[in-house]
Amino acid sequence: MFVLRSVLVAALAVLVTAPLAAQSPSSTTGLVRDAKLASVLGDIEPARIRMYDSMLVSFGTRHTMSDTLSATRGIGAARRWIFQQMGQWDRDCNGCLNVQYHATEVPITRRIDRPVVNVVNVLGWMKGRDTTRVVVIGGHYDSCVCSQDAWDFTSDAPGADDDGSGTAAVMELARMFAKHYPQGLETSVIFALYAGEENGVLGSTALAQRLRAQGYTVVAAFTDDIVGNVVADDGTKDDNTIRIFADDPDNGPSRELGRYVWAIGATYTPTVNILPVFRLDRIGRGGDHSPFVRQGDAGLRFTEMYENYKRQHLPTDDLANVDFTYVAKVARLNAATVGSLAAAPPMPTRVRTRRDRASGGQKWEILWDTIPKAASYEILWRRSISAQWEKVIPVPAGRTSLVVDEQLDDGYVGVRSIGANGHRSLAQIYPAPPAPRPAGAGGRSGQ
Ligand SMILES: [Zn+2]
Repeated sequence: MFVLRSVLVAALAVLVTAPLAAQSPSSTTGLVRDAKLASVLGDIEPARIRMYDSMLVSFGTRHTMSDTLSATRGIGAARRWIFQQMGQWDRDCNGCLNVQYHATEVPITRRIDRPVVNVVNVLGWMKGRDTTRVVVIGGHYDSCVCSQDAWDFTSDAPGADDDGSGTAAVMELARMFAKHYPQGLETSVIFALYAGEENGVLGSTALAQRLRAQGYTVVAAFTDDIVGNVVADDGTKDDNTIRIFADDPDNGPSRELGRYVWAIGATYTPTVNILPVFRLDRIGRGGDHSPFVRQGDAGLRFTEMYENYKRQHLPTDDLANVDFTYVAKVARLNAATVGSLAAAPPMPTRVRTRRDRASGGQKWEILWDTIPKAASYEILWRRSISAQWEKVIPVPAGRTSLVVDEQLDDGYVGVRSIGANGHRSLAQIYPAPPAPRPAGAGGRSGQ
């Protein structure tokens, strides 16, 4: 009893003294560091990200309804500059980035006169060997002073943090991947700079629906949104913690993506704290991952630890309040995540289970279909109360089934594919959540 009590006291002491954000997964959950990917993270530079953000701010306003004809002011000038920058990187890699405008005419239903606006995303579409699967990483280049007036599209709206920071980070990723992976990866990667976020995630909705309609499999869709402020309004500072928002359900695709990013952080950027938040977004807020999540794709949001609500959507969201060393930390975590997922084979399909009779029902057999591009598989295990996978169970080569010594009644298993290059797919979870309900506004239900 005494021993038990002192262990308990010691454990409580750790809980009390360790800062909340410093908690990390107990392990990397079996992910393996890719030496090349780890080394190219060093090519992500704060100074370059600052340069992109400075240019974005220089266009005065990037409101989705602002001037599109001026060469120096408004959202048109901003997107032509993004296109031209990305186009240069595309030429440098002999066409690996395939830069394009993605334009959609969208009625703005939030306004009573429902004006139809041309919402134009800029995409860098880096083709993979398998072009049917895509990893999307985006940020929104539109800005607003909508805390004053949602429809003021002429006043200066610098949006240096929201979301010049995310846009600049995604541009730096596009440059870095085009430079170091000019042949592409296993899966296509779309670097997406969205418009219309501030008017109801219009650009990302258009992309999510387009990819669904054209039959692509979205492996994951990320947004970097508000990723550069490190000081809260009361002076509290944190320039080393990144929040990741991963929606319910606990066994759903977005939550699993959250576990993956958490483990990627522990593998590639172990000195940076990750605070997983198990919900879609901050309370009452939304972002460009939401349209993907709502249609059943895995989606996730990266956001700074401390937002400054007194500057968001106001003329004071300026460059002086963006910490570019911190934005670069977010971009490195993004790059490690995107690089790993895009290098991995597809996840296993049709995971089934059977209660093992020989063990009196205490063990379970896990079965799944062969994935042609997988060199092998592994099974992950966690109790239903655990936020992260707790065990990695290797599967002997050539097998697509295994009896595991775990009581599945009390937890979850995940089966993931391992490529010949060592990269792991996301895990297919059993029991799986019910299929998502059909989305509204032209969306279709997931499979
Ligand atoms: Zn934003």
